Amino acid sequence: MLEITDLDAYYGESHILQGVNLSVQTGEVVTLVGRNGAGKTTLLKSIIGDIPRRTGSIRFIGTEIIDLSPERICKMRVCFVPEDRGIFSTLNVYENLTIGRANGDTAWPLDRIYEYFPILKTRRSQKAASLSGGEKQMLAIARPLYMGASFLMLDEPTEGLAPVVVDAIGALIKDIKSTGLTILLVEQNLQFAAEVADRYYVIENGKIVREMTNHQMAEDQQSLLDHLGV
Ligand code: ATP
Repeated sequence: MLEITDLDAYYGESHILQGVNLSVQTGEVVTLVGRNGAGKTTLLKSIIGDIPRRTGSIRFIGTEIIDLSPERICKMRVCFVPEDRGIFSTLNVYENLTIGRANGDTAWPLDRIYEYFPILKTRRSQKAASLSGGEKQMLAIARPLYMGASFLMLDEPTEGLAPVVVDAIGALIKDIKSTGLTILLVEQNLQFAAEVADRYYVIENGKIVREMTNHQMAEDQQSLLDHLGV
């Protein structure tokens, strides 16, 4: 579904991503791990066209998207949930869900969203600012579903959440995956990643240094921890 070849990305003179190759098949959950500053967020932002200077190839369902605008890429149903969750604090839950979606069919109409996320239905009139961390993360994941995402990228979805909420988010991602959605995840919590991921890429200093299946990860978690300096 997504095929990245020889991707380089820059912030001004800083050469951040260096020759990144990465692929995600339809229906997979792929997790990108790496130390702070390794380039994980830069990679996700490169895919949605939010990094001004990048070279190489990013193909999405066979179409080259590296030169497309973020708006065009968004219309291809490639969605990104940033680390800060990107929700509008002053709007309520319902408004956050429905803002910005053009008319038309969606695989995830509100009824279905509320079925998967009953708490969002209960809280639909509540301002997003007053939601708990876990509720905010659920809202952040529900928004792109309602917008019709086919490829979902989540940047550290468990950050700052209590263990019980992390478990709930894990169950949710597995449920979403079972509906056929393809997911690229940045995650530092390896226990969580092991619950949901099919494959891993390790990124170091802007380069992919390792690719592992979930099976390899189960056999040799220590080498991954070594990469992360844990
Ligand atoms: P973290 O786990 O801390 O979020 P990360 O792996 O997601 O880290 P990035 O946010 O992609 O890392 O950052 C990669 C490098 O790019 C870092 O050295 C960072 O300082 C630099 N960087 C990120 N954003 C910018 C920016 N807007 N301008 C200049 N440099 C930036």
